Amino acid sequence: MFVDISEIMMIKGGNVSFDFSENFDAKDFMPDVNKFLSPVSVKGTVTNIKGDFHLKGNGKTVVEMSCSRCLKPVNVDIEFELDEIFSNKSKEEEVETFTGNTIEFSSVVKKCILLNLPMKVLCDEDCKGLCPVCGKDLNEGDCECDTTYINPKFESLRSLFKVDEEV
Ligand SMILES: [Zn+2]
Ligand SMILES: [Zn+2]
Repeated sequence: MFVDISEIMMIKGGNVSFDFSENFDAKDFMPDVNKFLSPVSVKGTVTNIKGDFHLKGNGKTVVEMSCSRCLKPVNVDIEFELDEIFSNKSKEEEVETFTGNTIEFSSVVKKCILLNLPMKVLCDEDCKGLCPVCGKDLNEGDCECDTTYINPKFESLRSLFKVDEEV
């Protein structure tokens, strides 16, 4: 993704607008994103402010992540704001740099998407998750596993019982 700013290179206060859609590779977002379900679209403007270039706009996309309890795929809408200064005579570290007449801002977009990814997603607020013993998806029904807390007091009884069972 890049904006050609040759028109406003020398015009302080001048601006150019942009409106793009581009496919991103989910591999760059591993391990949180399984895949992108739509291209990343961004629109906004670049304004020449005293010889530096202020890129402002917003973007959106849809990604597929996994439910953090049952691992089912979940569609997640991502929206983000772009607000970044680019300089071709940079001195400060917090400023993005560029050379020539174009501003390449894919890395800024990628950073914005990463910052806006949810820490975890759920397929449903009430997702029951997977059985920790057999791995069955408990949303599809209960399993026979005993996952209840075992009181240590009864542990010896329990093992006796198990021995009996095995005999
Ligand atoms: Zn789930
Ligand atoms: Zn189970």
